[in-house]
Amino acid sequence: LVRIDGLNKWFGALQVLKDIDLTLRPGARVVVCGPSGSGKSTLIRCINGLEPFQKGTIELAGRRLGKSDRDAAIARRLTGMVFQSFNLFPHLTVLANCTLALRRVLSKSAREAEEIAMRHLTAVHIAEKARAYPAELSGGQQQRAAIARALCLDPRIMLFDEPTSALDPEMIKEVLDVMIALAKTGVTMVCVTHEMGFAREVADEIVFMDQGRIVEHASSSGFFSGAAHPRARLFLDTIL
Ligand code: ATP
Ligand code: MG
Repeated sequence: LVRIDGLNKWFGALQVLKDIDLTLRPGARVVVCGPSGSGKSTLIRCINGLEPFQKGTIELAGRRLGKSDRDAAIARRLTGMVFQSFNLFPHLTVLANCTLALRRVLSKSAREAEEIAMRHLTAVHIAEKARAYPAELSGGQQQRAAIARALCLDPRIMLFDEPTSALDPEMIKEVLDVMIALAKTGVTMVCVTHEMGFAREVADEIVFMDQGRIVEHASSSGFFSGAAHPRARLFLDTIL
């Protein structure tokens, strides 16, 4: 479903991704972890067409992403992205946040868009907040709304960039529970997260990055049972 070959990316003189190879089968549940600045966010931003790259190839669902705006639009259409900081439009209600792309990108009627949006808002247990504005919601509720919004376009791949790291502890669980339920639907998921409990429960593969490289890509059981690269071990010891 995702095939990355020899991906290299620079920000000016700084190389942030180095020879990344990564292949994900449909239904894969992958957790990406690693130290700050190792390139995790940049990698998933490349997958969804938010970031241009200089060398290598990315294929999504058999389509090779080039540099054109059209390819970036295709990448965004195939992927749903959830950010650390929710990124809901503050001037729109939760429902309008969800229906916007359905109407603009998929040209759905208002009624059909609302139906689809309400289905996803119900699934993340937030239907009663559909008419509220983001500022009226808790962080956990905003993040669940952002997940519902991403799901509305029926993406082939869901990308999460530290979806719980801006949340208070009591709200982390409600978001992780939604992600666990989502994993059970069989959608392909790539999650940048330091929630190793979640990784253990949900991920079937762990990718560990350091200084722009994938230094370990292992089955979840292999990763946690101690086969990890020394750098990954050190990282695990500091966060567990
Ligand atoms: P964190 O855990 O802190 O989120 P990360 O693994 O997600 O880190 P990235 O955000 O991908 O790391 O950043 C990788 C490197 O690229 C870092 O050195 C960062 O400073 C640099 N970088 C990221 N975005 C930009 C940008 N827009 N312009 C210049 N450098 C950038
Ligand atoms: Mg990051």
